[in-house]
Amino acid sequence: MNPTDSKILKISATTAEKLAKLHLNSLWDLILHAPLRYEDETHITPLADLRVGESCLVEGKIIHQEMQFRPRRQLIARIEDASGHCLFLRYVNVYPNLHAQLATGKTVRALGQIRQGYFGFEMVHPKIINVEKSNELKETLTPVYPTVAGLNQTTLRRIIAKALENVELNDTLPEHLLQKLNLPNFNHTIKLLHAPTPECSAVDLNNKNLPFFRRLKFDELFAQQLSMQLARSEREQQMATPLKNTGEWVKKLLSQLSFSLTNAQKKCLDEIQADLAKPHPMHRLLQGDVGSGKTIVAAAAALSAIEAGFQAALTAPTEILAEQHFSKFATWFNALNIPIAFLSGSLKKKEKQQVKEDLQSGKVRFVIGTHALFQDDVVFDNLGLVIVDEQHRFGVGQRLSFKNKGNNVHQLMMSATPIPRTLAMGFFADLDVSVIDEMPPGRTPVTTKLINSIRRDEVERFVRKTIATGRQAYWVCPLIEESETLQLKTATETFERLSQTFQELKVGLIHGRMKAAEKNEVMQQFVSGSLNLLVATTVIEVGVDVPNAALMVIEHAERMGLSQLHQLRGRVGRGGGDSVCVLMFAEPLSDTGRERLRIIYQNTDGFEIARQDLQLRGPGEFLGAKQSGIPLLRFADIERDIDLLETANRLATQIIQNNQQDIITKHLNRWLPNREVYLGV
Ligand code: ADP
Ligand code: MG
Repeated sequence: MNPTDSKILKISATTAEKLAKLHLNSLWDLILHAPLRYEDETHITPLADLRVGESCLVEGKIIHQEMQFRPRRQLIARIEDASGHCLFLRYVNVYPNLHAQLATGKTVRALGQIRQGYFGFEMVHPKIINVEKSNELKETLTPVYPTVAGLNQTTLRRIIAKALENVELNDTLPEHLLQKLNLPNFNHTIKLLHAPTPECSAVDLNNKNLPFFRRLKFDELFAQQLSMQLARSEREQQMATPLKNTGEWVKKLLSQLSFSLTNAQKKCLDEIQADLAKPHPMHRLLQGDVGSGKTIVAAAAALSAIEAGFQAALTAPTEILAEQHFSKFATWFNALNIPIAFLSGSLKKKEKQQVKEDLQSGKVRFVIGTHALFQDDVVFDNLGLVIVDEQHRFGVGQRLSFKNKGNNVHQLMMSATPIPRTLAMGFFADLDVSVIDEMPPGRTPVTTKLINSIRRDEVERFVRKTIATGRQAYWVCPLIEESETLQLKTATETFERLSQTFQELKVGLIHGRMKAAEKNEVMQQFVSGSLNLLVATTVIEVGVDVPNAALMVIEHAERMGLSQLHQLRGRVGRGGGDSVCVLMFAEPLSDTGRERLRIIYQNTDGFEIARQDLQLRGPGEFLGAKQSGIPLLRFADIERDIDLLETANRLATQIIQNNQQDIITKHLNRWLPNREVYLGV
């Protein structure tokens, strides 16, 4: 909070700190601080009309007060009103002046929720209002705000009221627009947010579907859309070198393959090529379910950049995946005489130095690596295209880190986590999206089995049977989030145990702590078929591609997230023939654990799984945005408020096209004063 605002609000530094914990750092933040719920002190409910579950204000005379000590210490008072009906008030937490407050013969008001008690209706810990001091009823509902320890409702209400007095609540949208959208004006909206009239029903307030809530949701979504679309149009105005090419090299690449591209792959590649030919940086998301064939599309895109005379780079979230990409790209690109390199943190210092030199001199035209590529000391001669594989695994902030690597490089992001339409429109509106919505031919759907871990014997028999047919299997060790060391221990133990169980088979182990060369060697052995069973931690979750693997066993599947399970399951079913994914779980299951297993068991479509995952977790968790600090929506729910999102989307386009700068500035200053944070999404 800046000093001027603190002064206006008459708050101390300590209070300001408490407000900061609630992300309330300005007058506007306070004004947009939404109550959790409201209390109704506008009218008195006669004791004859009480209903269980309802929160209400009652008034009556104390006709009895007593302390009870069994089953626990508590104070019980009984009130009666003119109708002769009674209500019990019960306090387990007996504070010092409670006896006096509830002295027999006094008339009091009590505010609380009605419960069915043992002897009749009761309120537990109601708020007591002394009628003798003031018996005026409130005219509006009383807001109850989210708060932190040491900042009580009364203080917070006073601070927010002060903020409201000191800010002009003028509208950011013109009157005719509001009429067209059927939305109330802003002043009215904010007044109602903090002090709804008694006519607003509790149900409507709970469901946030009153017109004033719609206005707030709309404003919030409109701000988000404006900021996203502005980011996009700013990017479209930036200059980048068009990567013009004849397409000959891509043709040569494709002619090496044993398959031809699916129509969906062709369509996506065309979209990418069209972007690359433009003099503005591409920011395109290539979306496709696990196994849909994004890699070859990426290779073709890289080749286009290279033919145009530029360097290209591909980054992957794990070393194993980067290695795997490297060996694939090496076969493809060596045949075309294109010098490529690999860069990761685990290379020897000298090797790293060599790669960096070759990138700077331009000798190497294509580099594959982990996040080591993001580092400042990696300098390119003329980088034209950056490809980020499994984008969702990188931190959100890393998307911009390539900016300084070249003159507004083109960016292609790839993700196997399908982004539901609402999220795409809401949070990825500054990106263009291509979708590979078709699987390569010859895939067999993977059969999913849910097996209680006490039936491990059966699973082991099944592993034997599968391997006897010449296929290979993965065995994924449980995820132990609390400790990497423990995770490693479990993996090693599982490996030893399974090596004992399957003495006749060749069993390998791969985990994140192994040196890159070791990992690579194990992976190569599995790819070549000299290992039958690969025991792995979740490092194999993304991207690893071994068509002969037909069985995936996942231990403690209940601990894993949905997209992780979907990714893991996608490692099999790539080579034709039957494939099975065994999800082992241990009881007792938590509710979400059970729900996740149900979803993964019943669905194979990654898109549907993502949609249900979003519902289960909400957008903050789904996007991994909680940690990254992206401002999420306070009022709107993009799934439920899709109509408002669509309207906001259209209006934002229109306002930006018409260049209505006054509306844009005013609205964004109000809703997103730190607008730059959105650009990193
Ligand atoms: P993902 O989209 O999950 O990254 P990959 O690019 O790893 O998928 O492709 C999965 C497998 O499908 C690879 O073995 C790849 O060679 C193969 N593949 C890709 N495109 C086709 C296609 N059009 N026809 C047949 N197989 C394909
Ligand atoms: Mg992939």
